[in-house]
Amino acid sequence: MAYIQFLGAAGTVTGSKHLINTSAEPSGTSGLQVLVDCGLFQGQKEWRERNWRDLPVPAKEIDGVILTHAHLDHCGWIPRLVKAGFRGPIYATPATIDLCGIILPDSGHLQEEDAAFYNKINKSKHNPALPLYTLEEAQNSLRNFKPVSVEQTVEVSSELSFRFVRAAHILGSCMAEITLQTAGQSHRLLFTGDIGRVRNQTIAPGKVVHSGPMEGETADVLVMESTYGNRLHPKQDPLPELAALITAAAQRGGSVVVPAFAIELTQKFLFILKHLAESGQIPRLPVFCDSPMAIKAVQVFLKHTEEYSDDTRNLIQQYGSPLNWPGFTFASTPEESKKINQVQSPSIIISSSGMVTGGRIMHHLAQRLPDPRNLILFIGFQAPGTRGFTIKSKAPQVKLFGGVTYLVHGEPDASGQLRDVMKKDLGWNVQVAQYLEKVEVK
Ligand SMILES: [Zn+2]
Repeated sequence: MAYIQFLGAAGTVTGSKHLINTSAEPSGTSGLQVLVDCGLFQGQKEWRERNWRDLPVPAKEIDGVILTHAHLDHCGWIPRLVKAGFRGPIYATPATIDLCGIILPDSGHLQEEDAAFYNKINKSKHNPALPLYTLEEAQNSLRNFKPVSVEQTVEVSSELSFRFVRAAHILGSCMAEITLQTAGQSHRLLFTGDIGRVRNQTIAPGKVVHSGPMEGETADVLVMESTYGNRLHPKQDPLPELAALITAAAQRGGSVVVPAFAIELTQKFLFILKHLAESGQIPRLPVFCDSPMAIKAVQVFLKHTEEYSDDTRNLIQQYGSPLNWPGFTFASTPEESKKINQVQSPSIIISSSGMVTGGRIMHHLAQRLPDPRNLILFIGFQAPGTRGFTIKSKAPQVKLFGGVTYLVHGEPDASGQLRDVMKKDLGWNVQVAQYLEKVEVK
């Protein structure tokens, strides 16, 4: 009998990898082997270390990957799989492929930065830290992608075919419905990937109005995500409350700081702000979008209008590209990002990372969190253990960078390394004191 083996996202929310083997033998050697998703383990060290382990089957023996969507916990291990010898096709929707073109190279870049950092602080030649994969390897892995339209049936072999059905999660996201024809029997498997919320057009336009296979269609095995399995969605329209919160912050002279994931959430929130401002529900405040990845993703979102409902297409037609909206500033360079700190009048700052685990949002919060006039607005999931979760839990204190620590009494090498370790591990703002330097005490 064919089998499914869970190689990730079992007992945790990251590292999605499900292996289907069509073989009738327990060894599985003669069967076709296809992975549904190939995600990175993220979060705690215990999980991240799994990214370094080989799969239980050699990568070169895997015949293909079916990718549900472009979040790293579903696609982020693809460059590693290719590096390990995988040569098959990676099936994904055109929008997923375009998003992977931004996300995977960025992930490779971060892996290289991390490895360089660990090598800098620990100079052991016998044990150099290596990136899980490099930016170049991530770019090379993009060549394996094969575009598949929604509802198109793809025959991977005589034993296995599949089609994508929409999942209403992020741009390009789909469920994978797989049909197995083995030992004279037919079986249908449905892998949901992440499931979005089917929207009421009047409340939150933008998403497809249907998610998953059509009514009446069945599956023999359903592999379903359960991230929010213990929560209920609020039933009321969130926009009036959002507008009231933003307006109140502006009236008391405060700014709004929004930690947001760079892909999807930021773009969606930009359109919500535009709509609220144009309809007079919030004052026209300057909006700063401070995330290079979010800026790149705007282009991908505008290209894939096939993903949207008519309402959203009209919205895009009406307002055009956010990159051209007056009053909206997009910060690419670190200098442009830092300049936002000088803005004293009420404004809205959207930046990542979405769970305040790093990135440019850190300096915006360090600057604006202490002022009670400001509003910190969480619009996405905050995992326990993250700074975002701590802030959202209304903890009386949160450590961002701390104050500033000046390191003295050290050779430049020793002080410099200690500064780097303290910055990385503690998130502190650490400087190495320079000879004769004057520091203002604030
Ligand atoms: Zn996802």
